[in-house]
Amino acid sequence: MPSLDILGDDLKVALPSGEMVRFAHLDYAASAPCVRAAADAVQDLLPRYGSVHRGTGVRSRGSTLAYELARDVVAEFVGARPGDAVIFTRNTTDALNLLARALPPGTTTIQFEGEHHANLLPWPNPLRLPLPASAGDAVTALRQACEGLTGPALLTVTGASNVTGEVWPVRELAEVARAHGVRVIVDAAQLAPHAPVSLDDLGADYLAFSGHKLYAPFGAGVLAGRADWLDAAEPYLAGGGASAVVGDRPGDLTWATGPARHEGGTPNLPGAVALAAVCEALDAADRTALHAHEQELLAGLRDGLADLPGATEVSVFGPDHPRVGIVSLALDAADPAAVARRLDAEHGIGVRAGQFCAHPLVRRLTRDGRAGSCGDGPPGLLRISFGLGSTAEDTTRLLAGLRAVLST
Ligand code: PLP
Repeated sequence: MPSLDILGDDLKVALPSGEMVRFAHLDYAASAPCVRAAADAVQDLLPRYGSVHRGTGVRSRGSTLAYELARDVVAEFVGARPGDAVIFTRNTTDALNLLARALPPGTTTIQFEGEHHANLLPWPNPLRLPLPASAGDAVTALRQACEGLTGPALLTVTGASNVTGEVWPVRELAEVARAHGVRVIVDAAQLAPHAPVSLDDLGADYLAFSGHKLYAPFGAGVLAGRADWLDAAEPYLAGGGASAVVGDRPGDLTWATGPARHEGGTPNLPGAVALAAVCEALDAADRTALHAHEQELLAGLRDGLADLPGATEVSVFGPDHPRVGIVSLALDAADPAAVARRLDAEHGIGVRAGQFCAHPLVRRLTRDGRAGSCGDGPPGLLRISFGLGSTAEDTTRLLAGLRAVLST
């Protein structure tokens, strides 16, 4: 059974007192540590690899097979349907940019203010909807936006917010979109590490996510979904692999079909294999139990934070809305970056401070009153995020550390 044990989970750091403590990594939303399944898969591959899709030797044949098997595993992970493509990319940003370049001419794209920059900036003809106050408002706003649309359109929505951890009402939005002939891409960068992501269950046409947030090393991501627009588009990267036949004259060429069309150049085999190994491990795991454990940690953290003076949890949809293991705090008087630095140096705890590549959302959350008393205070938020290696002890230490840092 592939293992979801976190590598380096026993990393120790020295506190100013000289005491050695286990480093409490509470920044899974930025990059998750690697799990044993991914490391084992890469270690197994390294002595045997060769060129993918390009040679006849045993190394090359084995590598081609490993790469295509990795694709099949990811296809299973996302519940790919007949007619769907699975394309390996560098990360979520790359996957979203790929689809943005493959849209039919004149496609309108719709997104709510509140997206990560990766899902805000690549899209042509954007129709940007204001941050909704509730899931119901989001659905109503989308319905209104869809009513006047003509031509192809795409809703680009996050599965779970990298700032508030809130799970967006993707299924409900997708239903409205589909009724108006609008396609949907779900940015699953933050959802996939915390919940099963099935194209059909989400009602999505496309999904994008990153290996490095899903317990695999850096450098591999996925775009999965309907192949027709992708097959009709110019290749994302022109070059070897993306071309089937190249004639003597410039422009005299036939592009490759299928995933190869958008995977120009030699692919990242170890990245794909590692990512697929994690997908397999997650598929084999008891996701219900993992979810329950994470929600228990989250509840403990939020209870503790409610009693913490000077810090207010931020939210788009309200405190009772479902969320993954991510919480961001607006601080009344302290600079989030300075607090994060002190948590690291004085308490051996890693969190993240700033605007998390979601400037419009963080501005909203800190200026329109949703963040409680933050008002025009220091820019940015303090983010705490859980993952597979997180424990109740991490929460206890974080709350004690925050209390100490915020009071001195
Ligand atoms: N989308 C969301 C919701 C994210 O949180 C992130 C990264 O933080 C991205 C997209 C971009 O991911 P990557 O940097 O792996 O491309």
